[in-house]
Amino acid sequence: MYMMDTPLTITHILRRARNFFPNNEIVSRLADGIFRYTYKDMYERTLRLASVMSEFGVSRGDKVATLAWNDHRHLEAYFAMPVMGAIVHTVNMRLSPEHIIYILNHAEDKVLLFDESLLPIVEGVHEHLKTVKVFVMMTNKSSADLPQTSVKPLYAYEELLAGADPNFPLPDDLSENDPCGMCYTSATTGNPKGVIYTHRALFLHSMASGLADSLALSESDVVLPFVPMFHVNAWGIPYSCTMYGSKQVLPGPVPTPQTLLELYEQEKVTVSAGVPTIWLGMLQILDQFPGKYDTSSIRGLISGGAAAPRGMIKAFKERHNLTILHAYGMTETTPLALASRLKPHLEKKLTDDEKLDYAATQGLLVPGLEMKIVNEQGEVPWDGKTMGELWFRGPWIAGEYYKDERTKGTFVDGWLHTGDVATINEEGYVRIVDRTKDLVKSGGEWISSVDLENALMAHPAVLEAAVIGVPHPKWQERPLAFVVIKEAQKGKITKEEILEFITPQFAKWWIPDDVLFIDSIPKTTVGKFLKRSLREDYQNLYN
Ligand code: ADP
Repeated sequence: MYMMDTPLTITHILRRARNFFPNNEIVSRLADGIFRYTYKDMYERTLRLASVMSEFGVSRGDKVATLAWNDHRHLEAYFAMPVMGAIVHTVNMRLSPEHIIYILNHAEDKVLLFDESLLPIVEGVHEHLKTVKVFVMMTNKSSADLPQTSVKPLYAYEELLAGADPNFPLPDDLSENDPCGMCYTSATTGNPKGVIYTHRALFLHSMASGLADSLALSESDVVLPFVPMFHVNAWGIPYSCTMYGSKQVLPGPVPTPQTLLELYEQEKVTVSAGVPTIWLGMLQILDQFPGKYDTSSIRGLISGGAAAPRGMIKAFKERHNLTILHAYGMTETTPLALASRLKPHLEKKLTDDEKLDYAATQGLLVPGLEMKIVNEQGEVPWDGKTMGELWFRGPWIAGEYYKDERTKGTFVDGWLHTGDVATINEEGYVRIVDRTKDLVKSGGEWISSVDLENALMAHPAVLEAAVIGVPHPKWQERPLAFVVIKEAQKGKITKEEILEFITPQFAKWWIPDDVLFIDSIPKTTVGKFLKRSLREDYQNLYN
């Protein structure tokens, strides 16, 4: 043995936080106010939770589901299951009851931990759950004060913890390849697909998130994940922050851009993370109330999950001196795979406009991963133009979907086929052109719906824009644009003006045939544009 082979585990991350950062803070916004504690307290309560789970019969490899917002109790569940050798399965509360039932049964969860405010969801599904034997409500209330409900057997979280062992002995024989987390992709088509995360994957992902040239998370940071803890482990932030001892600010139930802005100011947040729609909403508020919120502590707003529009990145920088850190990933990539950071030689030589072009790319491959962009001719040249499908492999890339036939189509010969179409330029910067299924195919050529959307969203009157391909008898498909106009500009702008604005940027045949003004773009459960529903509604427009 040339080097020691010690396991990379979540237990290591938790112990490190207790040993080195016992007094660093975790702030949790609850329905009834702000709760604060430290990593030392969090460590002790996590062990208590593990001890409770063990008494409920949860053992190695068993799954425990959570249905919860971003708060300190959810954070405890994030660690308690992994450190005892079990699996924490975070469930997306916004899925349909049918999908929630499917997921809980498919994963064979033994226990369900849920927030008090989500009781109605649990009441709607519990009779159909085949394997869940115990329900725990995450609340301050004691069991005597729990609401009347058909959900049984039901326990009160704080009461269970108060009676539990704070010195619960953690197993020291966990393997880094043991499973410890689980998340299903939000189902845009068919049933959701499950991904199981291992200790090693989450550990290495946490290290990658701390690299200076990726997200550079560190102890100096105060991190607020808007991205829900049921969406790819809040992009790994709770694990990375605990590894580094960063202060965590968990925004609790139903957070809005206002909630975030208030917390930024009160808690001196340095990094926050979410999908572009939340940033578009925040931009509107910042523009509307200049100077109302102090955002000077922020060093970066991580934007991922969908393309960050160039116009949005520009507006944040120019009008509010805020930097968008554009990153790319998916449930299957844990998720961080690409991060946009400017190389120093580009920093020196590019104009501000060119720098913005780079900031709008999804960026460079994170160290540790491998990537290919492939089309019918093989790997595409690094010319920034030729399109191909993006593939990944690496220690935090899933190897399969959990007990799912669809593994075959996505994981091929050791590579994850993302279903995203991308280009790569001579410097190695990847630009996601579109999801394969969202590309518009017109007259045998491809049109990027993402490029059109970004151009539309750069118009000062436009809040949100989505472009879909609509079946067309002559051209196969034609792009159709949906635009949401900002409140203050409603009724003052025509579709011709919008189209004129984008016309200089594209070949003529790229320009959408029509622009429809709507009140809001339908969104997926994690806040991305839900183009499937627009496609369904407008598929017969030209036929
Ligand atoms: P779902 O597929 O259900 O939306 P994921 O959150 O796993 O769930 O989505 C991953 C997908 O999101 C990627 O395959 C890609 O299409 C898109 N995506 C993620 N980050 C970006 C980004 N920065 N730019 C463009 N697309 C992105």
